[in-house]
Amino acid sequence: MNDKDYTTDTEKDIKKGRRTIQRIGIMGGTFNPIHFGHLVTAQEALGQFNLDKVIFIPTGDPPHKVGKDIASSEDRYLMTVIATASDKNFLVSRIETDRKGKSYTIDTVRELRKIYGTDATLYFITGADAILEILAWKNTEEIVSLCKFIAATRPGYNLSRMKGLEKKLFNSKNNKGEKIFVMEVPALAISSTDIRNRVKNNRPISYLLPGGVRSYILKHGLYG
Ligand code: ATP
Ligand code: MG
Repeated sequence: MNDKDYTTDTEKDIKKGRRTIQRIGIMGGTFNPIHFGHLVTAQEALGQFNLDKVIFIPTGDPPHKVGKDIASSEDRYLMTVIATASDKNFLVSRIETDRKGKSYTIDTVRELRKIYGTDATLYFITGADAILEILAWKNTEEIVSLCKFIAATRPGYNLSRMKGLEKKLFNSKNNKGEKIFVMEVPALAISSTDIRNRVKNNRPISYLLPGGVRSYILKHGLYG
């Protein structure tokens, strides 16, 4: 990965010795396609947790799955770049786009930890649905030792099940301190699944996602 892609005002400050510790949000997702639910969640995390930047990380190609319903990793990466282009605190990483074979969150978090060093605080940002999936995986203890989690509210999903998991996971000796933060975000009942269905059925998708992303979908005949 190219470190130059990650140079922001914060990094310039760090180089000049004005600041040392970075607070970084990691927003993982399929982004098939990216929509305003993702963007509002990232923006809220930036403000509420005083982050220096949020790095969007679109997943790579799932084995044997690219087709009508899942756009290629390259298309999903480009749509994410288009959606975030005007915000200087939003960056997009190719870390999973360029990785061969199946991508595991743990590998991505390990790699980011290497890039940003042990002093940086990494926050993995997820919606209420995805946090449960991630915490139910293997390697959870290691992931939790490398980063904290921000669980955003999402219409249709309940965060109460998280409590049990939290107790189980965070009482181990490696994982002390608060690790999961619940974040209220303006409720947007938008999903990529619904957007794909709308495209399939010739229904409008304006105002659910950035105009540039809509144009990209139509121009390339995605999800049609
Ligand atoms: P799909 O319907 O294909 O699963 P999606 O809309 O859930 O798509 P993902 O790419 O799966 O989007 O989600 C990436 C991350 O963004 C996940 O952590 C998910 O919980 C979160 N997220 C997605 N949509 C919203 C939303 N409307 N509000 C809050 N969080 C969201
Ligand atoms: Mg999803």
